[in-house]
Amino acid sequence: MLEKLLSDAGVDFKRGVRLSDISSFRIGGEADYMLFPDTAEKLVSSLRAIKTCGIPFAVVGNTSNVLFSDDGFGGAVITTKKISDIRFDGKRVFCGGGAMLPVISRRAAENSLSGLEFACGIPATLGGAVFMNAGAHGNELSDILKKSTVYDIEKDKIVELSADELGFSYRHSILADNPNLVCLDATLELSRGDTDEIKAKMKEFSDKRRSSQPLDKPSAGSFFKRPEGYFAAKLIDDCGLKGYSVGGAAVSDKHAGFIVNLGGATCADVLTLAEYVSRRVFDETGIKLEREVRLIPSPKE
Ligand SMILES: Cc1cc2nc3c(=O)[nH]c(=O)nc-3n(C[C@H](O)[C@H](O)[C@H](O)COP(=O)(O)OP(=O)(O)OC[C@H]3O[C@@H](n4cnc5c(N)ncnc54)[C@H](O)[C@@H]3O)c2cc1C
Repeated sequence: MLEKLLSDAGVDFKRGVRLSDISSFRIGGEADYMLFPDTAEKLVSSLRAIKTCGIPFAVVGNTSNVLFSDDGFGGAVITTKKISDIRFDGKRVFCGGGAMLPVISRRAAENSLSGLEFACGIPATLGGAVFMNAGAHGNELSDILKKSTVYDIEKDKIVELSADELGFSYRHSILADNPNLVCLDATLELSRGDTDEIKAKMKEFSDKRRSSQPLDKPSAGSFFKRPEGYFAAKLIDDCGLKGYSVGGAAVSDKHAGFIVNLGGATCADVLTLAEYVSRRVFDETGIKLEREVRLIPSPKE
């Protein structure tokens, strides 16, 4: 039934996809289905079909902040990556939910628009960045987001939400509290700038990232959120945990906030390591580290 509904709606899909082949962490068992809608309309049709069939689903972007289970996913994983249109209208940029931040950032620079320099190295889709309120170098997506079109699966309604309505805070938006809301697109508002200056800033940020982050190893970026008033990486480093490993997962020896896959890491390795790191940091400093990376399927927390 699902396959017929998807074919009727013109949605590409594959059966039995190994999530370790597509995830940024290179971890995860097999998903029953992987869906590749290439327009917002097809994304909505996919979600309607899944609801009709009553099967579990997960919407992902570039998977750069998720950890898939070793058991895989008994249902449909939908990736938005093909919904990648980007259109400029004066200082405003309209982006599909699967448009990649580094691409939008580069295109903005070419159009002499400033405000997205901070995002040039964040390997996120716009939808994933809205969900997480992604940020770097003292800026975050909520600084430049005007509005986002969201599909409410439960109500079967498309709604436009303003930045205020998206309830942004540090690495959080209301999408994280409501699995029924799926980001279809967003409009950003940038300011006029000088292309050379914008590109220089982007180069500075990229160089900084390359010199401080383990970009050559699979990961999901910073594993823990920044505890108020502290840096997770410094706390972990101060506990002597750089390089500490469990199975194929290790605390990066380049950036202690990253857990990296050295090869063959499992979800269980990562979670055991993360639990050990949190416990050691708590025992030695009294500070609780909170996971930034999202588990799929999501656990009952
Ligand atoms: C090397 C590296 C560096 C990183 N640097 C940074 C950084 O500097 N700053 C930062 O903030 N993050 C950083 N990250 C983490 C990550 O890029 C961000 O959290 C990003 O916002 C995730 O976007 P994504 O498209 O990959 O989302 P995914 O990882 O695919 O999904 C993240 C969450 O968003 C949900 N989601 C995705 N798309 C949608 C949608 N359209 N509608 C509803 N829900 C959706 C998913 O269900 C999931 O819960 C880094 C990651 C890596 C690997």
